[in-house]
Amino acid sequence: MDARRYTQLRGMPVIVVVGGGFAGVAVARRLERRLGPAEARIVLVSRNNYSLFTPMLPEVTSGELEVRHVVTPIREQLHRAQFILADVEAIDIKEHAVRYRHVLTRIVSTQTFDQLVLALGSSTSTFGLPGVAENTWALKTLADADALRNHLVWLLEMADTIADDERREKLLCVTIVGGGFTGVETAGEIAGLFRSVVPLYKNLRANRPKIVLVEAGTALLAGLPAKMGEYSRRVLQRKGVEVVLGDGVAAADEHSLTLQSGRHIATETIVWSAGVKPSPFLAATSLPMDRHGAIRTGRDMRVEGVSGVWALGDCAAIPDGEGGTYPMTAQHAIREGPLCADNLVAALRGTSTQPFVYRALGMMAALGGRKAVAQLPGERVITGFVAWFLWRTYYLLRLPGLERKLRVAFDWTIDLMFPRDTAELRFGARQEERGEEMARHA
Ligand SMILES: Cc1cc2nc3c(=O)[nH]c(=O)nc-3n(C[C@H](O)[C@H](O)[C@H](O)COP(=O)(O)OP(=O)(O)OC[C@H]3O[C@@H](n4cnc5c(N)ncnc54)[C@H](O)[C@@H]3O)c2cc1C
Repeated sequence: MDARRYTQLRGMPVIVVVGGGFAGVAVARRLERRLGPAEARIVLVSRNNYSLFTPMLPEVTSGELEVRHVVTPIREQLHRAQFILADVEAIDIKEHAVRYRHVLTRIVSTQTFDQLVLALGSSTSTFGLPGVAENTWALKTLADADALRNHLVWLLEMADTIADDERREKLLCVTIVGGGFTGVETAGEIAGLFRSVVPLYKNLRANRPKIVLVEAGTALLAGLPAKMGEYSRRVLQRKGVEVVLGDGVAAADEHSLTLQSGRHIATETIVWSAGVKPSPFLAATSLPMDRHGAIRTGRDMRVEGVSGVWALGDCAAIPDGEGGTYPMTAQHAIREGPLCADNLVAALRGTSTQPFVYRALGMMAALGGRKAVAQLPGERVITGFVAWFLWRTYYLLRLPGLERKLRVAFDWTIDLMFPRDTAELRFGARQEERGEEMARHA
């Protein structure tokens, strides 16, 4: 008997949501509200037991925000849905089954479904450039941000300790690739971190760290009003960031970044924020994909040609009705979630579904030092302190739960009064390895 018929025979449809980010949690929460306990069993499977508030990730990197304060436990956000802490390993569309491996027990199990919602997000794309995947720091997950923060503190410690001037210069050069929101915000944040803590390192006072932001296009924040990119460039340059425009990356290795122009930047820290691609896990499924690897859906988020399967968020190509698809942003994922749930309920009840229609409210980027750029509805642009205040207020209100809001507001207040924390919290083998490296260079 096929798995789907089995669940149906038991009477209650099973809805499985995979991915516990902005999109997946929004779907599960709406399903809980729309369906009574006797109407459906809702199961959410995700590899972390929290959802991550990515817009604040660059601030974790600079130590302005505490790691735990930008995540919200999934169980706190759900009331009735069952949560499974697992890595989804395979999806069998024909058999209506999801195979997953529990993160802690490593036990592999199968969950059958009547309806499946795919919200697996995206991962970093290095476009197959030589040495880039192996020699760069990503900024996509909480672990990435925490590791990068520790690394930045480590390199200051190392630069303060070693006697080799050439190596010190390389250590003190941080390169960020990608002049989109993440790259611009990260450059501003790292500049803020260095400004705050370098005075604590006596041997570094004469050797200021260098930050280089590399963008292949001719402007920062491409696709947004030119004024936003131009303002961001000026603010970052005033903070000492070298902004390289119109030069893409050719290759990277342990000691340098090579640009297409042939320029070599001597650096041991390259932050890669130049691209994302839909979850590569999906390539192994039989689902219809667009050329970027996103799942093709109808305007109601139902996967093209596959009944009972829905997709949304970064992993989905949802037509925008104007010949394109909606962008990969949290702003969209949060809004797609409730409508996807409503459409799924409509499908269960045999009523008609609705297309997703949304016009972005605008975009904002924080540049550090109480400056930001913001695009408002109607193509209006604001910059400086007012934009920064708007950025903080908007994202603070968007953070789920009062407790997180208070914690983040407290971190921001502390940051106004004291230098950033320079404790390097890294334990175990890597710490020893780095200690040995320091001893070699001292
Ligand atoms: C640094 C950074 C800053 C950003 N800033 C902004 C911003 O300011 N504004 C904005 O609108 N957008 C921003 N974005 C984009 C935004 O984060 C994404 O568009 C949004 O997270 C997409 O939501 P999602 O639910 O589709 O995916 P995600 O939020 O990525 O959620 C996917 C979930 O699926 C889980 N998962 C993935 N694979 C598996 C698997 N095999 N098994 C189990 N679970 C799995 C993941 O752990 C994750 O919980 C930013 C992104 C980054 C990285």
